[in-house]
Formats: sequence, structure tokens, C-alpha cells
Amino acid sequence: VMGIDHLRDPRLNKGLAFTLEERQALGIHGLQPARFKSQEEQLELCRISIERYQEDLNKYLYLTELHDRNEKLFFRLLSENIESLMPIVYTPTVGLACQKFGLIYRRPRGLFITINDIGHVFEVLKNWPEPNVRAIVVTDGERILGLGDLGACGMGIPVGKLALYTALAGIKPNECLPIVLDVGTNNQNLLEDPLYVGLRQKRSTGKLYDDFVDEFMQGVVKRYGQNTLIQFEDFGNHNAFRFLDRYREQYCTFNDDIQGTASVAVSGLMASTRLTGKKLADNKFLFLGAGEAAIGIADLTVKALENEGLSLQEARDKIWMVDIDGLLALERPEGGLDGHKKFYAKAHQPIKDFAAIVEEIKPSVLIGASAAAGAFTPTVLKAMASFNERPIVFALSNPTSKAECTAEQAYANTDGRVIFSSGSPFGKIVLGDRTFYPGQGNNAYIFPGVALGVLLAGIHHINEQIFLLASETVAKFVTDEDLAKGSIYPPLSAIKECSMSIACEILEYAYKERIASVYPKPKDMRKYVESHQYNHNYEPSLPQTWPWPNPPYIKT
Ligand code: NAP
Ligand code: MN
Repeated sequence: VMGIDHLRDPRLNKGLAFTLEERQALGIHGLQPARFKSQEEQLELCRISIERYQEDLNKYLYLTELHDRNEKLFFRLLSENIESLMPIVYTPTVGLACQKFGLIYRRPRGLFITINDIGHVFEVLKNWPEPNVRAIVVTDGERILGLGDLGACGMGIPVGKLALYTALAGIKPNECLPIVLDVGTNNQNLLEDPLYVGLRQKRSTGKLYDDFVDEFMQGVVKRYGQNTLIQFEDFGNHNAFRFLDRYREQYCTFNDDIQGTASVAVSGLMASTRLTGKKLADNKFLFLGAGEAAIGIADLTVKALENEGLSLQEARDKIWMVDIDGLLALERPEGGLDGHKKFYAKAHQPIKDFAAIVEEIKPSVLIGASAAAGAFTPTVLKAMASFNERPIVFALSNPTSKAECTAEQAYANTDGRVIFSSGSPFGKIVLGDRTFYPGQGNNAYIFPGVALGVLLAGIHHINEQIFLLASETVAKFVTDEDLAKGSIYPPLSAIKECSMSIACEILEYAYKERIASVYPKPKDMRKYVESHQYNHNYEPSLPQTWPWPNPPYIKT
């Protein structure tokens, strides 16, 4: 490492925080102005700089540039300002950044592996300069957030998710690798956009695509070992379920859209039992949507109900689902009951009209994950309030414009009795003389902590009990004050503590169930986790020196 690298390499750079001694010894003295700053002073400048930008996309670009310039400063800023900056590096602004990816692209971050590289995926993986990758987030860009097929522009998502791995769970940045599998795009606008940076061709499908993903999984294990965590993100519905089923027993992998979403939603259901006084098993669940999110939540709810003593069939009987063709009923003419949908199909006459379905089923819990904006009409919400003292309504579809109802509508049509949460943040709601602060079912409560626990225990396969454990842990962080304010989630400011607790719980569980592979078992889990976490504070840039006893040795 040359002295000048300390200014050029974001991992080494401390800017004006280099001491006089460091500047002189490294040979960078005079390359910066005379001023010396603490990291705290630098953070203050960052905050001022961000506030000067009016547009969120510009704030995003500022943060990207900071990430490229001074890594520790970027992560400390993010981790100490989660409430204000998470919506920039993650949803919703990251979605905009993906849409404008070709326009804002400057420096590479992450690895692009294209379908043209089939047969050479390992060679591409070898080009990644970091030898100690432990966690990968991978997308093929087919279903980015609720925005559809963005092809290679989807890179913003793995980058953003892994920034949260570090900021929220302290997983070291050099251990994190964002990847796009560029198999083309079916987005006609992108195919015709001169600024598009991905492969300009239609998506590969079928055997070629499957072989490519297989080769990728094998390549990761060959390069970084079988304990490498591979998080699947924003794959199209059909592929997401297929890959989860195919790989979950063979690799250390999970799908955040299915399992992370499920875990955070079930956590909300667990917290809501403190307001309703009911067990989970005392509820009747109705889902609008039967896709990645909804089926994931339904499957994990079944596990939670089984833990309360119900049989598998009894648990499934409590869950009713509606897709684009109406109620999942065994006899419906449209059919289409493939995959997990058939587990929830009921021997009931088919109904299409959603309000009629709600009247017929009379659920106590209503969960929307359909991207059908406004589907929870005042009629539907009033019906929920008529047969429940405390109706539970989750409007999870993102972004805000896709939500099944707004928080305001939910409270206004239930005399404020609703237990509400949403996928996108809504802020505070005033109803007469009462004010509510509904919480957001944000996956970021779950996936960073799960990743941390899984990595530090060396778990080979991630089972559903691990996600239930995460749900329970987050639910325990909800205080009576949170509940009284109308939130079934802890405040975002508690998210780092949540991640730590999730990791510790997973570690205890992993040793108890003998699925840990790191030995010996740590004595104190929390200390063990802390000792492996990233330190975003500056450290000395000069090597340590020490004297020997008793000269003679050459002294200057
Ligand atoms: P998906 O796999 O495409 O599933 C969408 C489901 O909704 C499908 O089952 C579809 O029916 C159904 N649907 C679509 N339009 C409908 C309509 N008008 N009426 C009834 N059902 C309809 O998508 P996903 O990944 O589950 O995501 C769905 C939504 O959830 C997105 O807006 C996403 O942003 C949101 N989400 C939120 C969170 C969170 O809050 N933490 C996490 C993940 C996802 P068919 O099956 O018949 O096509
Ligand atoms: Mn996602």
C-alpha cells in the first residue's frame, strides 16, 4: 500500500481526520488543507450536505459518492441516522435510483454476471477482488420492488440491502458482495433506452437460465465455501419459489421477498395478540394476493399456529386467500391453483367480489400483498370493524401508491379501532382528538439480524423456525408505549438492537439444535457477536511500534 492509497482507497481514507504524524509518515502531508477534523465533525458536514439537496435522488447520489470515498464515514453516518437515511439507500428512493440507473451510473459496485458468461461464471467470480466474502445478495432484476422488470438496473437493490447488512447488523463490508445475474430484460422501454447498461436482449428462460443459476450457485461455493450466505432478492414470482425449493436444503440461502416479508408480518401478528388478548389460533386470516409475499406470510403463519398446538390442516383451514381471479376455492372455473396456492384452497363456492368475500368469511385479520391499490375500500374496512372489536389490517403493498388502503382510511373507517401496519411509511394520523403512529412492516427488522446469526453460527440451511425466532424477537422489542401509539413494531431507531438480539437468539438455537458449525460454542453470545462486527470508527493508519527492553539495539 502506497501512502497516496490512504486518500484514494475508500477503505483507508480518513480525509481531514489523518493526524499530523500520519500525514507526514504516509507521505500525504500537504495534499490536504491544514485543518484537522474529528469523525464527528465530518459527520456534521455530511448531514449539512445532505440537507442541502432537495431531491431524494440527489441525496442518494451524495451517499453513493461518500460510500466510494470514505467507507467508515458512510457507514457511521447511515448507522447513526437510520430513520432519515434508510428511505434513501433503501425503499423508496433506491427504486428511483434503479429506474435511473443508466443515467446515474458512474463507478462500478457489485458484480455483473451475464448469461453470455455461461461456462465461465467461476472466472467472473474470481475477478471479485475480496477474498473473504461471506454474504451475497443476488437478483436477476425481473421484479424490482413493485416496479417490475428493470434488468441490470436492479443492481441498486443488492447494493442497498448489503449496505443495511453493515449499517444495521455490523456485517463487514468486505464480506458482502452484491450481484446481478444479467439474463436480459423483457422491459421494452429499457431495450430501446440508449442509456441502458445491461444486455440488450430478451430474458433467457428455460433450461439455459436454470443451468446458469445452477452454475452460479456452484461457483459461489467453489470460490467462497459452502457457508456463504446467498440471499435471493426480487426474482420473478415463479422463479423465486422454484429456486427456494430447489436450493434451500443444498445451500445456505433464503429469499427475502418470501421469507423476510413473512417474518416481519408474523412478528406484527404476534405483537397484535397483546392488544386483542387472543392467541394467533383464535384468528381467521384473509389475504388479498397469493404471491411471494402473501404465500410466504401464510406459510409462516401456519408454522406459528402449529407451534401453538394446531395440526397442519387445522392451521391451513384458518387461512383464506384471494388472487386475481377471486377466492381460492377448489371448484373455481379459472383453476390456477398451482404451487402453495392449493394448500389454502377451500371447499367453498367461488366468489370474485372482494367486499362480498370479506362479508362471507368475516376474518379477524386482513392482509393485503397484491399491489391492488385501494382494494381495502371503506366498505371493506367498515365490515372489518363491524365483526371485530380490534380488526387487524395490514396493507403491505409498495410503494405507497400501491397500498390497499392508506393509514388514514384504515383508522377513519374503523372508529380508530384498527390495528394497522403498512409496507410503506405513512407518518402520524390524527383522528378527532386521538393521534396514531402506525408502524411499518419493514423487512429491515429481520434480514440483517438473520444474516448475522446465520453467518456467526455457521448454519448450513436456514429453516423456518429461524424466521419465527426472528419474528418473536422483534415482537418482544415492541413496548406497551409503542402499542398505545398504534404501532405493532419497535421504532426504527431500535433496529440495530433488534438485529443483535435476533443474532444471539439464532446462535443459542443453533447450538441447541446442533445446526451450528462454529466450534467451540461461544460462552457469551453477545460478546462473541460484538467481537465480529464492523467498527465504523477510525483506527490508527500507522503500524504499531514498540520498544524492546535493555538496549543494545540501534536507537535513533
Ligand atoms: P407477486 O408475487 O406478483 O404477487 C401478487 C399477488 O397479488 C398475486 O397472487 C396476484 O394474483 C395478486 N393480485 C394482483 N392483482 C390483484 C387484484 N387486483 N386483486 C387480487 N389479487 C391480485 O408480488 P409480491 O412479491 O407478493 O408483492 C406484492 C406486493 O407486496 C408488492 O406491492 C410488494 O411491494 C409488496 N411487498 C411488501 C413487503 C413489505 O411490506 N415488507 C414485502 C414484500 C412485498 P395472481 O396470483 O392470480 O397473479
Ligand atoms: Mn425485495
